[in-house]
Amino acid sequence: MRFDVITLFPELFEPFARVGVTRRAFESKAVDVRLWPLRDFAEDTYRRVDDRPFGGGPGMVMLVEPLARALGTIRADQDAAGGPRLPVILFSPAGRPLTQPRVEALAASPGAVLLCGRYEGIDQRFIDAHVDEEISLGDYVLSGGELPALALIDAVTRLQPGVLHDAASHQQDSFSDGLLDCPHYSRPEVLGEALSAQLPGADAAVPPVLMSGHHAQIARWRRQQQLALTWRRRPELIDAARESGRLSKDDEQFLKSLL
Ligand code: SAH
Repeated sequence: MRFDVITLFPELFEPFARVGVTRRAFESKAVDVRLWPLRDFAEDTYRRVDDRPFGGGPGMVMLVEPLARALGTIRADQDAAGGPRLPVILFSPAGRPLTQPRVEALAASPGAVLLCGRYEGIDQRFIDAHVDEEISLGDYVLSGGELPALALIDAVTRLQPGVLHDAASHQQDSFSDGLLDCPHYSRPEVLGEALSAQLPGADAAVPPVLMSGHHAQIARWRRQQQLALTWRRRPELIDAARESGRLSKDDEQFLKSLL
C-alpha cells in the first residue's frame, strides 16, 4: 500500500523512518510512504504557501495553488506507477475521530493521500473539490496534521503482515475485539523486598492463574480482566460490543456479576 503525504514539515517524519515498527515498514515497502514537501510546489520567489484570511481575523490560511499543484503531481505519479487514484484524507478537528475499525479498513486498502494542515487550516475550496474524508485525532487542537498522519501510518503499518515480530500480537490489542486490553506481567514472578518498596500498593506476586499453565483458565481470566476494565472505564464500548454480537453468554454472566 502507499501513502502520499503533503506536508510543510517533511523532516518531522524522518525519525519514524529510522525506528521501530514504522522503520520496518518503510524498509520492507509494505507501506510505501512518499513525502511531498508543499513548499516545493510554491511558485513565487518567496515560496509562499499561506496568506491572510479574507474577512480578517488572526492566523494564516494554506493557499489553494500549491496544494492543487502538489496533488496534480501526486496523481501523475500514481498513474505512472499504474496504481489507483488514492482517496484524499485531510486531518482536521472537524473530521471523524479515528478508530481501530477505520484503521483496519485502511490497512486493507491500497492507501491514501494524507493532507497535513497547518496554521488556521486550508482554503475551503480545496477541501470541497478534492478531500474525500476528514479524520480527527480527538477533541483537541494540534498545531499541524503531521502527528495525526504519523499516528495513522503507525496504526496501519503495525497491521501489515510481517511487520510485527509476533503476528498474533495485534489481535489481542485494545479495540481489536471491541474491548480494552488486559493487564500484562513479566519477570520476576514475585517482587523482592527492595523492588516491593519501590512499587507501593502493587501486589508482590503476579496473579497466580498466569503461572498455572492452564491455557483455558488463563484465557478466561484475561477475557474477564478485559471486560471488567472496559466496563469501568469505557462502558459505551461494552454496549457497542454487545450490539455487534461480540459478547458471549459467559461474558454477559461475568458482567452481571460485576453489578
Ligand atoms: N483552525 C482550526 C485548527 C487548525 S490547527 C480549528 O480550529 O479547527 C492546524 C492543523 O492541524 C489543522 O489544519 C489540522 O490539519 C491539524 N489538526 C489540529 N488538530 C487536529 C486534530 N484534533 N485532529 C486532526 N488534525 C488536527
